[in-house]
Amino acid sequence: MNLLLERLHSALVTLQLSEADALLENHLEGAVQQERTYADFLCLLLEAEVEARRTRALAARMRMAALPSPKRLSQFDFAFQPSIDERQVRELATLRFVSDASNIILLGPPGVGKTHLAVALAVEAIAGGNSVSFVTAHDLTTDLGRAAREGRLETRLRRYLKPKVLVIDEVGYLPLDTVGATIFFQLVSARYERGSIILTSNKSYSDWGQVFGETTIASAILDRLLHHATTINIRGESYRLKERRKAGLLSAPVKAEPTKTA
Ligand code: ADP
Ligand code: MG
Repeated sequence: MNLLLERLHSALVTLQLSEADALLENHLEGAVQQERTYADFLCLLLEAEVEARRTRALAARMRMAALPSPKRLSQFDFAFQPSIDERQVRELATLRFVSDASNIILLGPPGVGKTHLAVALAVEAIAGGNSVSFVTAHDLTTDLGRAAREGRLETRLRRYLKPKVLVIDEVGYLPLDTVGATIFFQLVSARYERGSIILTSNKSYSDWGQVFGETTIASAILDRLLHHATTINIRGESYRLKERRKAGLLSAPVKAEPTKTA
């Protein structure tokens, strides 16, 4: 390797420009062959570094989010669930809710796409450069309950306060005891007007008293949660049932359709 190249590599490594370092020879050769200007060469090399960093950061945010599956908005069949206003979901996907620190509450029976939409909006938020964390209500209250017993609730809460968007899935499947409900309230209060929550629940708001054990704490939680929030109430059939039905239909004999002539 000639001395100049060695110095270049060493400088790029010191500056932690690893992509530029890896591409250096290639780009130098390309610049000679294509008779690129100095500015053109430098621009291409640095842009490759920027792009690689962006991709790495996106992958890191996806990992950190711990999404159950990377569902996308493009995979959601709005025609199947007419109770959902597609325009409203598209507006949410612009991520204004993230900068406003407002919340999204998805309500409805099992299988109607609550988790799918929550995850899809989370993926949009990640793509938009935001930190996201996904947790089920059960895991959240178990984790924070343990921390409270061990006298480190404050520290542990930070894990759920840090991300710009916190997805809390399946609120209401399991009722919470008073400690769980109090911890949940603390979390919602601490995130209030500071960071968004995307929450899914199979229980309508009127049943939240049951979920949180008593109506006082449930209304205190709802008060903060709903002050700046969009509620999407999904009514309709379970997509899982539809898929099962479709599978059943497919195994039945299919009547041959007349072939169309052009
Ligand atoms: P919920 O959280 O409401 O119980 P999910 O979001 O887990 O339901 O949806 C169940 C399954 O059906 C998932 O695999 C999801 O991707 C799929 N699904 C639900 N609704 C739709 C839809 N409208 N279009 C496409 N897939 C859907
Ligand atoms: Mg779900």
